[in-house]
Amino acid sequence: MALIVQKYGGTSVANVERIQNVARRVVDTAAKGHRVAVIVSAMSGETDALVALALAAGGDRPDPREYDALVSTGEQKTIALLAMAIQRLGAKARSFTGAQMGMRTDAAHTRARIVSIEKERIFEALDAGAVAVIAGFQGTDDEGNITTLGRGGSDTSAVAVAAALEADVCEIYTDVNGVYTTDPNMVPAARKLARVSFEEMLEMASLGAKVLQIRSVKLAQQYGVPLHVRSSFSDEEGTWVTREEDVMERLVVSGVTYQRNEAKIRVRGVKDQPGVSARLFTPISDAGIVVDMIVQNASEEGSTDITFTVPRGDFKRAFELTEAAGREVGATGVAGDDKIAKVSIVGLGMKDHAGVATRMFQTLADEGINIQMISTSEIKVSVVIEEKYTELAVRALHAAFVEHGAAAPTSE
Ligand code: ADP
Ligand code: ASP
Ligand code: MG
Repeated sequence: MALIVQKYGGTSVANVERIQNVARRVVDTAAKGHRVAVIVSAMSGETDALVALALAAGGDRPDPREYDALVSTGEQKTIALLAMAIQRLGAKARSFTGAQMGMRTDAAHTRARIVSIEKERIFEALDAGAVAVIAGFQGTDDEGNITTLGRGGSDTSAVAVAAALEADVCEIYTDVNGVYTTDPNMVPAARKLARVSFEEMLEMASLGAKVLQIRSVKLAQQYGVPLHVRSSFSDEEGTWVTREEDVMERLVVSGVTYQRNEAKIRVRGVKDQPGVSARLFTPISDAGIVVDMIVQNASEEGSTDITFTVPRGDFKRAFELTEAAGREVGATGVAGDDKIAKVSIVGLGMKDHAGVATRMFQTLADEGINIQMISTSEIKVSVVIEEKYTELAVRALHAAFVEHGAAAPTSE
């Protein structure tokens, strides 16, 4: 008998028929003698609709406490519906909101972090022979305020529950058969990976592969939770996210990812002297805006340009803050562009290969795509390009590195 945690995403619970399909899967698993805890998302489109309502009522920046109180309601609907559907099949089920199951978080509304879980509540249900049906994405802080874990946060709820219960496996059910070499909804030639390492998955998640929320991957790595990403519409084996040693196939590039919602800001004529960057970026970080890439040009006659990227949703505010800070440090101008995208290639095999970045730049050049910014690490190369070329860039890079296996010359 195993203890299995299953998480079903929005498309898997999009309507009553699909919820019934999930109920059947859950009941089948329980019928094999396993104990099952299920984490569910809101029905697909529901969270987006709630966010739109929050913005309509509360303006650009609605009160975070009330925003969380509203957007968390999507999951509350699905847990009750799934529990009913399971009961209708003759099995026992008990639903739990984040508060009811003691999912304790910090107080950082809209992007809270899980602090602890009262696993006894879940075990009580399991010991009573019931399936525990748990709302993803939500928790409560020390004062009982409802918090949410950031978009895609149900993945993290599931892994946290699996870690707390010391489950044998955490199955993430979604609308694709696993983790692919790139978004299979954009590139039909994308290939399913049988296994992917935590390191690569972390990079892919942080660079746009939304199939797993980045924090869920970090938690799974930290607690050694066996993570299996698969489809709720088939019985096919999916992708195991696992330790590097357990990945058989070592690809130079195992993933091509993209992020469309980026923006860049360029500050011109900044004095090249100590303290200027700190003064420019402090107001932005104080506003809770995450700066991603930063490029500073070589200085000419004591002044330089600094360009950086922020999430597009934060562009307006970051631009205003940069204009104000730019005036203070005597910059000659601030310009912005919110029609950019970031495209990346990720792969552990890059460590042993020279020329991967060059090959990437050449592939983009062959398509006539101009590279605006570049950043690299040991296992990834990212470039910023004009947004309208995103799909072309992803397809070209996937063709070059994955389909044609463009093994760049090795460094040996
Ligand atoms: P869920 O609602 O189940 O949480 P998400 O929409 O959050 O599902 O994530 C699944 C989606 O992630 C897929 O439909 C796919 O379009 C997208 N995706 C992006 N990159 C990848 C990738 N490399 N592998 C698999 N899916 C990907
Ligand atoms: N419903 C939330 C969202 O759409 C959480 C999730 O689905 O993971 O972001
Ligand atoms: Mg998701």
